[in-house]
Amino acid sequence: MRRPLVAGNWKMHGTRATVRALMTAVRDGLGDNRGADVLVLPPAVYIPDAVRLAEGTGIGVGAQNVADQDQGAYTGEIAADMLTDLGCAHALVGHSERRLHYGESDALVAARFAAAIRHGVTPLLCVGETLEQRESGDTEAVLAAQIDAVAEHVDGEALTRGVVAYEPVWAIGTGRTATPEQAQSAHAFIRARLAVHGAAATQVRILYGGSVKPETAAELFAMADIDGALVGGASLKADDFINIIARAV
Ligand code: PGA
Repeated sequence: MRRPLVAGNWKMHGTRATVRALMTAVRDGLGDNRGADVLVLPPAVYIPDAVRLAEGTGIGVGAQNVADQDQGAYTGEIAADMLTDLGCAHALVGHSERRLHYGESDALVAARFAAAIRHGVTPLLCVGETLEQRESGDTEAVLAAQIDAVAEHVDGEALTRGVVAYEPVWAIGTGRTATPEQAQSAHAFIRARLAVHGAAATQVRILYGGSVKPETAAELFAMADIDGALVGGASLKADDFINIIARAV
C-alpha cells in the first residue's frame, strides 16, 4: 500500500510573516488524524522558520529545488547537504517553471535527482507535457524522455526512493485540471516506465499536480495510480490545502 502524500508548493510567494502565518495555520488546522503524509515547500530562505513551526507535527518541510553538485563554486545553488542540515529531507526537481523559465534540461534535472539521492534527500521529480505536446500526441514520448534521462543517472533502487509528480504544464496555474482519466492514464504510463528501468514501481508514489482544488481532489485521489497531489495555488490558502489533504485517504 502506498500512503498518500500531499505537498504544497508555495513557489515564490509571500514574506517571512505570511509564510510563518500560513505554516501556523496549516499546522493548527490539520490536527493529528491524517490519511496522508503532508509536505510543504516554502521559498528556500523561509525553510528554517517552517521547520521550526512544524516541529513535532509530522509535517515535512521540503525545498523547491536542489543543486546537482555536492559543494563548491556554484553561485546561487543550494546543496542537498545544506537542506538536510536544516531538517529538510525532500526537494522538488524539474518543476516545469524551472524547465521553462530557467532552461533546466532533462539532463540537469536528472543530475539534481541523483545528487538528492546521494545525500538522503527524497527528490520529487516533476514531469509533464505542454499543451502543444499533448495535442500533437506526444504526451507519452515526453514523459518517457523525462524519466529515461533520470534513469541514465541512477539505478532502479534510487528511482524507487524518489517520488514522481505528474504535472501537465497546461494545467499548472490555469484552473484547468486534467480529468481523472487523463491523469490516471499518464500515471499508469509513468509507473510502467519506472518498472522498465528496474524500479520497484508499485512502491513509488506518483502525485498529480495542476490546479488541484478541494472540489477536484477526491475524484483524482480515487484513481488507482494517483497517490496524492502537488498543490500550488490552493496550498497558499490553509483551508483549501487542509480540505485537499482531508480527501486523501
Ligand atoms: P497549481 O500549481 O496547483 O497552482 O496549478 C501546481 C504546481 O506548480 O506544482
